[in-house]
Amino acid sequence: MERHDQEHIVMLPFLAQGHLIPFLQLARNLQQRKSFITITVASTALNIQYLRTTIASNSSSKSDSNIRLAELSFCSTDHGLPPNGENTENLSLSKIGNLGAASTSLEAPAHLLISDIIEKEGRPPLCIISDMYFGWAANLANSFGTTHVTFTTGGAYGTAALVSTWLNLPHRSTASDEFPVPGFPESYRFHISQLNPYLRAADGTDFGSRIFQPQLSLSTKSFGWLCSTVEKIEPVGLKILRNYLGRPVWSIGPLLPLEALNKSSTLRLSVSRQRAGKEFGIPPEACLEWLDSQGADSVVYVSFGSQNSISSNQLMELALGLEESGRPFIWVIRPPVGYDMKGEFRAEWLPEGFEDRMSRGKQGLVVHNWAPQLEILSHKSTGVFVSHCGWNSVMESLSQGVPMIGWPLASEQAFNSKMLAEEMGVSVELTRGAQSVVVGKEVKRLIDLVMEKSGKGGELRKKVGDIGEQIRAAVKDEAEDKGSFVSAMDDFLGTILATRRKN
Ligand code: UDP
Repeated sequence: MERHDQEHIVMLPFLAQGHLIPFLQLARNLQQRKSFITITVASTALNIQYLRTTIASNSSSKSDSNIRLAELSFCSTDHGLPPNGENTENLSLSKIGNLGAASTSLEAPAHLLISDIIEKEGRPPLCIISDMYFGWAANLANSFGTTHVTFTTGGAYGTAALVSTWLNLPHRSTASDEFPVPGFPESYRFHISQLNPYLRAADGTDFGSRIFQPQLSLSTKSFGWLCSTVEKIEPVGLKILRNYLGRPVWSIGPLLPLEALNKSSTLRLSVSRQRAGKEFGIPPEACLEWLDSQGADSVVYVSFGSQNSISSNQLMELALGLEESGRPFIWVIRPPVGYDMKGEFRAEWLPEGFEDRMSRGKQGLVVHNWAPQLEILSHKSTGVFVSHCGWNSVMESLSQGVPMIGWPLASEQAFNSKMLAEEMGVSVELTRGAQSVVVGKEVKRLIDLVMEKSGKGGELRKKVGDIGEQIRAAVKDEAEDKGSFVSAMDDFLGTILATRRKN
């Protein structure tokens, strides 16, 4: 057997929850495949605190013992940023932009971190894996003569559409609301309402363009990309992304805990406990006990991820639609856009007496702030997910065979929603955006449609079930039957280790 020296990989995730979770899972997976690899995940103070708590609550996993955490401090405050270590879970969209801007100032402390590693180990790390928004890490890797790899925590289709629209701004060169996106077949039409608010306003000189364009452009030139998807579920997206980037793209998904891929069992909080540090509105046990008392495939689960909320009008209409549907539901609820996401929730944002009626009549659970999502999706009672189509949520829902009703809000979510409906056929879209007009009756109509046992609902369920199987097959690791996750991880590690031998 080939012997290897201890190797070191440095990871630089973007500073938001939806990026930290897949980065940590990737670190675990890399470490599990090659025990001689140590991983250092470097981020700002509060993110490191979150990762530390998560790792500490997973003491059963041996792989975490080779994952180190390093704190980086913002170097300057001239981006109008709040003090070092701001809690990114509470960010409004504009603050995410500020954070993107300020993250370039992490380059100097990251430089010190790598210098330290070289001093201790006598050579640079094997590679630096950075988020696609951290293109500056390419310069960092270059200056130390190591390899730079980009990791997109999104899917292939959504990433390709997001990177290409940012770098080409195709909506600027047409008077129409519909336009083709470079890299996608000419027949694929995108709509202006599918662009996130930054992108829609971008003209190449504005704040969003100045922040995101140079970072994404640097990332497109890295050695290769890792993508949080599964080869068989995104054939179109992967082909487009590979052609567009013109470099290797390893599909190293699903980035989900293995327990979540074991079809025979419902998850019982092992995963959420690992994601500790969250305040649960209703104790997670209570959510699962309530689900136990519901019929198979009967419950509507509603959540908009870790960063987003909807407008107060939309909150009201969503509540009306859920109540009118008469179906059991779990709704993770937050104050509407414009209010502190972690602040007090006011009863006036919902129809009069809504929460009381729901809990008395036992129709639904209104969970404030945070719920054990993966466990809810894996529960046999959950029948549909009304989702903002953040990529982690998408992969969780697909892996558990739960069809979706799309309500994309930001980032590349509308591209994900388009792909889920048009390519995979596992979702229908309710609306787009945090300010769009939503009507309760339409909420009810789509819930009824997806819940149908036959017709459209039956079709969606069948397709999502097949995709769930493909996701589980990706982690098969038998001599004659290796899934795409296993092949991609081994190929990536083999390729990157070969770069060490060449240097
Ligand atoms: N999540 C959760 N409970 C919640 C809301 C979100 O566990 O109440 C988790 C969810 O399971 C997913 C992540 O937070 O892993 C959200 O990531 P995603 O990419 O879906 O959306 P983002 O938060 O980045 O917009």
